[in-house]
Amino acid sequence: MRRQRNGKIVATLGPATSSPERIKALFEAGADVFRLNFSHGSHDDHRQRFDAIRALERTSGRPITILLDLQGPKLRVGTFAKGPIRLAAGDRFRFDLEDKPGDQTRARLPHVEIFQALKPGAELLLDDGRIRVRVDSCTTEFADTTVLAGGDLSDRKGVNVPNIVLPLSPITVKDRRDLQFGLELGVDWVALSFVQRPGDISEARRLIAGRTAIMAKLEKPAAIQHLDEIIELVDGIMVARGDLGVEMAPEEVPSIQKQIVRASRRAGKPVVVATQMLDSMVHAPAPTRAEASDVATAVYDGADAVMLSAETATGAYPVEAVEMMDRIIARVERDALYRTIMDAAHAPPEPTAADAITAAAGQVAHTISAAAIVTYTTSGSTTLRAARERPEAPIVCLTSNLSTARRLAIAWGVHPVHTADVANFNDMVAKACEMAKVVGIAKDGDKLVITAGVPFGTPGATNVLRIARVGQ
Ligand code: PGA
Ligand code: MN
Repeated sequence: MRRQRNGKIVATLGPATSSPERIKALFEAGADVFRLNFSHGSHDDHRQRFDAIRALERTSGRPITILLDLQGPKLRVGTFAKGPIRLAAGDRFRFDLEDKPGDQTRARLPHVEIFQALKPGAELLLDDGRIRVRVDSCTTEFADTTVLAGGDLSDRKGVNVPNIVLPLSPITVKDRRDLQFGLELGVDWVALSFVQRPGDISEARRLIAGRTAIMAKLEKPAAIQHLDEIIELVDGIMVARGDLGVEMAPEEVPSIQKQIVRASRRAGKPVVVATQMLDSMVHAPAPTRAEASDVATAVYDGADAVMLSAETATGAYPVEAVEMMDRIIARVERDALYRTIMDAAHAPPEPTAADAITAAAGQVAHTISAAAIVTYTTSGSTTLRAARERPEAPIVCLTSNLSTARRLAIAWGVHPVHTADVANFNDMVAKACEMAKVVGIAKDGDKLVITAGVPFGTPGATNVLRIARVGQ
């Protein structure tokens, strides 16, 4: 089954979309990547979804990406003795480490790291930023605050501490268990939440040891200050606008989104724009004009993928939401302005043989109106360099490595095809022609532009460009 678009769709699975039938319906509507969100659900829930996706992949013949999203150090207040409390602007309120339920004067905040890092004048945000308090004085055990914006505060509501780098590992004890479970299942990508510093990535790298690709969710202001270094260390990036929008003013988010997408594209790493994209479709069968425009903006920016969260996980119209995204992406990509923007906005090739060949492949494909650019790859790195060019022709990624095929289904314009090993260059060209036909991208008489590294088996050593004609 071939997609008629370059931008990809990530669909989060949840209670609304757990059965094999629902997952299949999402896939047929256009979901390329399924996200298992470990902030919710049991291991059994996730295993059932995982198995359903892999079974679907076997029958569809198209590699499908599975992304495990770790909860990360999500901070929460404790519970309250007599139900929710009401805080009003000007109230004085204490947060502390004491292990007893909260009341109108204090609440438990069971994270020593916060108290170690807080300073007078810092702000705490509670319940997705609805309540704001300012720290007046603090020790390593408590903080006395004044409420700036009030509201009702109930058990275990989330806490954000913007603009302060907390001495927290992005991988909690729960994350370690979840990661181990996901590695045993065999997920393709792992997303790390609340990354703050470049050093946060190395711990994940060590634990994962190459078994999955790693995505950094950028949702802390501190991470934006180290944007290029973090991008350098990971395989992919998510613009996690939910928490980012709590920690930063709403007017900051659009510019930061563009900055992240541009920096990721310059590095040639897949970038996903996430959260609230079609939020009203949680309850309604059609999105608002503003939401359609938001999806379109991410596509015009050249993001690799756009993501659905609650829309597909718990919403009333999950399949409709994917169909809507599919239509918006396809419509934007038909716009002549889109091509102008893609041609103008991609970063120049780096001075390597691989980039020289892939940039040339895009040009050759344009000149001879090739049906596709075919990259033969083991690690996937060549294919991602080709995607970085945002070429007009679709990119067929031919690989004998199934996990490479699965990882690359998230990338812009890439149609991964899992194939048997090839013996030599001529064999590979024949395979490219055959597979381009099988996946519906080329027909007899069409031309293909094929890139590969010869001799085979050295990752990133792309040095050959070949034009082939299908069926001859
Ligand atoms: P979450 O991440 O849904 O796991 O919070 C995405 C975001 O914060 O935007
Ligand atoms: Mn988040």
